Amino acid sequence: MTTLAVDIGGTKIAAAVCDENDAIIQRWRVPTPMDADAINDNIAKVYREAVAAGHRIEAIGVSAAGNVAADRRTMTFSANIPAWLNYDLSEHIGALIDHAVPVVVENDANCAGWGEYVHGAGQGSANMVALTVGTGLGGAIVINGQLFRGSFGMAAEIGHLPMVPDGSHCGCGLLGCAERYTSGTALENYAKSAVRRRPQDAKRLLELCGGDVNKLEGPMVSQAAQEGDELSLTAFDNIGEWLGRTMAAIAAVLDPDLFVIGGGVVAVGDILLEPARRNYALYLEGSAYREHAKIVAATAGQDAGLIGAANLALR
Ligand SMILES: [Zn+2]
Repeated sequence: MTTLAVDIGGTKIAAAVCDENDAIIQRWRVPTPMDADAINDNIAKVYREAVAAGHRIEAIGVSAAGNVAADRRTMTFSANIPAWLNYDLSEHIGALIDHAVPVVVENDANCAGWGEYVHGAGQGSANMVALTVGTGLGGAIVINGQLFRGSFGMAAEIGHLPMVPDGSHCGCGLLGCAERYTSGTALENYAKSAVRRRPQDAKRLLELCGGDVNKLEGPMVSQAAQEGDELSLTAFDNIGEWLGRTMAAIAAVLDPDLFVIGGGVVAVGDILLEPARRNYALYLEGSAYREHAKIVAATAGQDAGLIGAANLALR
């Protein structure tokens, strides 16, 4: 028995047939159309190809960027796909494949976090919080070995934890959300502003962006930081501090034993994790008189979301 896992990203749809241990046995990669119907068609097509290839698919697990209702079928909102407004994604895909198998929809950060929990750095933890530091800040919460979805499917929107009263404007409409201070976007914004203020200290970054600070991107800051560039290291200290403070706030509510940090930005390892750990300890309530959660980098890699979607589809 196998599962078809589908990860609907901003630019591509990654799909994979996974065996009963969530190991990937065949992959697909197709562009993500902006049109909801075309997305459904692409997924149905991949399903038919998988069946034609002889795979006995038991369920389809879909990882989608956006808010997923507690029914694990309905997209209540997505910043990427405007049509996903109280949109029964499961029904729309199911209708195209004669409802041959169940279609289970989960939030993308939940899938990636769950992938880490079952096959990555989260294994063996009882209470884990996964944070995906990418364009934004995604979250997943595991409590007593179970994915915690909340009452309305809205749990673990950690990127929108209000960290700074009347702070920076967030895409969600609120002010001062965590992801404004700790994410790939925050890293980029911080570095850009530092380059503009201190061009004399930004020789390496200016070199990497071809002299045009508007073209400066997160990966360039990562590269320069790994080379020891001081200004870039300061940018990581900054988002690392906010990552630590955000985790301390989470710990006040959930008291997890483990934080798993994933996403492209964590490729720099301790350059991000060291300031995060230091500030976690600084801002943690009762810090000197309690055990501290471990803070580690994710290990399941790019496929964490697919693996998580495959595993969750049968739970
Ligand atoms: Zn927000």
